[in-house]
Amino acid sequence: MGSVFRATRYVASLPLVDVDELVGAGVELVLLDRDNTCVPRDVGEPPAEVMAWLARAREAGLSLCLVSNNFHSSQVGETARQMGCSVVDHAMKPAPFALRRAMRLMGATPERTVMVGDQVFTDVVAGNLAGVRTILVRPQSRSDLWYTHVFRLFERLALRGARFEGE
Ligand SMILES: [Mg+2]
Repeated sequence: MGSVFRATRYVASLPLVDVDELVGAGVELVLLDRDNTCVPRDVGEPPAEVMAWLARAREAGLSLCLVSNNFHSSQVGETARQMGCSVVDHAMKPAPFALRRAMRLMGATPERTVMVGDQVFTDVVAGNLAGVRTILVRPQSRSDLWYTHVFRLFERLALRGARFEGE
């Protein structure tokens, strides 16, 4: 598999991403996927551990922006409000444009940005095309859109041999 499918880091879940390590590595902006990264698709709300992580990240001075492919703008907007994040919706990942828009909006360079998401073929590829670091997390739930289930089959191939920190 080419490097466009490879994440910089593999971590079991967002709350296990080490905030101090991000700051130490020069990260200023965290781009966050919504569905199954921050908000389990079968629950619809960010769990307490995610909210606690966001608070730690903000305290450490990190900027946060949701970058979501979810086409329900009101859902995405509501989550951004709950999470206290900026938001770019209709992202059309794996295209890198929304990530670039988010970086412009937040005033960050690709070198100081990381994309965190649960899908190789949207989040990781978009991050690589936008020239940012990427962290792939495990999906929070097994609930996915039908076409995501198809991508998950190929994802399993792309992830052969990957070790996720925290599991
Ligand atoms: Mg997702």
